[in-house]
Amino acid sequence: MTVETATSHTTAADAAQTAEPAVTASLSPSRAADFKTCPLLYRFRSIDRIPERPNAEQARGTLVHAVLERLFDLPAAERTPTTAAHMVTAEWTRLVAEQPELADLFDGHDATDLTGFLDSARELLDGYFRVEDPRRLEPAERESLISAVVDGQLLIRGYIDRLDVAPDGALRVVDYKTGGAPREAFEARALFQLKFYALVLWRTRGVVPAVLRLLYLKDAEACDYRPDVDELVRFERTVVALWRAIEQATAARDFRPKPSRLCAWCNHQALCPAFGGTPPPFPEQPAADAAPSPPAPPARVTRRAADTAARSIHPRPPAPPSATPPDAADGAAPPPR
Ligand code: SF4
Repeated sequence: MTVETATSHTTAADAAQTAEPAVTASLSPSRAADFKTCPLLYRFRSIDRIPERPNAEQARGTLVHAVLERLFDLPAAERTPTTAAHMVTAEWTRLVAEQPELADLFDGHDATDLTGFLDSARELLDGYFRVEDPRRLEPAERESLISAVVDGQLLIRGYIDRLDVAPDGALRVVDYKTGGAPREAFEARALFQLKFYALVLWRTRGVVPAVLRLLYLKDAEACDYRPDVDELVRFERTVVALWRAIEQATAARDFRPKPSRLCAWCNHQALCPAFGGTPPPFPEQPAADAAPSPPAPPARVTRRAADTAARSIHPRPPAPPSATPPDAADGAAPPPR
């Protein structure tokens, strides 16, 4: 792999690391994509913080990600399809112990459904082995939190499924996709997420990742994307502009529904005007909303904890109303990883 070194921007990256920026807000790719997808969805998740019930597809994604992460704890020779298949039940047991509500997906007693669910996770793992041989890989990082400050005050952060580093230092960001929804509906969101990670890595390490790789486990396909510096410069502007749009929407308390085919995956239809619902009153002072986001948590935290943390996105107060997100055209969606 070749690596583009961001010579002219390395100084900025260094400055971001050494100066102590006055971080006033933070943004994860998931929440940014929520706002792009539907401003009201962003509000429900990030400001109202309305709990969402887990669904089986999300649970399967979490389970498969967990198996793939732990698979690399094993000696290379043991990373086989058979081993991965055997890990599924143990990982599910561990996840249910951490999140007892997951058991409700199967009424706690429906062994038939659970068996089918676990088998479907194994099928996704089979898909993984059709595109990669983990015996030949030694990831540099797995489920790692990465973060950077952009625009002097916005902390952007997220968890990457896997980071591979070639002997020459080239970086490859790998993201596992387990959803069964039509790929075209979600590819833009997935790419947005990967560019987000690429921007963070570039800003913190001074190196543009050589490859951003989406692994579609259901289809057993890999999709590689090669970003460049100019693109990340533009993407950074997009992220900052998106954040400003979120701030403006917050100041105006104006988060409008943006119906699309993706509403089928939305947990909040009952509260959505597009479906005859009424949103709750806008929180006067959402808990901790006035506080800047804390510094990034330790690098080895579960994805679930990360998702929770990522919902702590707190815009700064007042600014003139005008809630049109810049670059809100990808139509990307919320659902499973
Ligand atoms: S149902 Fe659709 S329009 Fe309504 S909040 Fe959810 S994603 Fe937005």
